[in-house]
Amino acid sequence: MFPLGHVGMALLLVAPAAVLLDRKRRYLPVVALALATALLPDVDGKIPFSHHHGGPHTVLFALSATLVVGLAFAFVSVNVRWLARRIDSVPAFRPRSAFALGAGGTLAGLASHLLADVLMIPVADNPAEPFWPVSERAVALGLMYPGDPAWNYGLLGAGIAVQVGLTVHLLRICGCLPAELTEPWTPNRKN
Ligand SMILES: [Zn+2]
Repeated sequence: MFPLGHVGMALLLVAPAAVLLDRKRRYLPVVALALATALLPDVDGKIPFSHHHGGPHTVLFALSATLVVGLAFAFVSVNVRWLARRIDSVPAFRPRSAFALGAGGTLAGLASHLLADVLMIPVADNPAEPFWPVSERAVALGLMYPGDPAWNYGLLGAGIAVQVGLTVHLLRICGCLPAELTEPWTPNRKN
């Protein structure tokens, strides 16, 4: 799949986080992290002694990276809490919240990449083996060619549309939209 299609899939898969998060303002960093990791597995085609759809295209990699990033966020949170107590502009995250933020964004990004790749018709005979090392069974649902513009741009468009809708909804529930945009429209009547 093209990078734009992966970005679209990440925007779709990260959307449930907006519902799950207690503090909605944390949704933006989760989305940013999902986008930052959505293309990460494709580094396997660019590093020596590896092949495309190798180790980074596995559930094992996605879960391991999720754990590592979550723990890294928790570690940073523990170490900056004293700074946040002194400087108002530094956000204070509890370690558990920081772990959820880091792990949630990373899992959404990596899972979206894996899901998008198994939708494809494998080219160059290199289907993903997402359950390696437990199983070397290739998984390719064969729904699209990697360069299919309808799928790539369709996923990107759907992802952007969902995020725009969510942004408007989150702004509305936080009271951040001007009142005239949230009040129901009524026609002006002349007597
Ligand atoms: Zn890939």
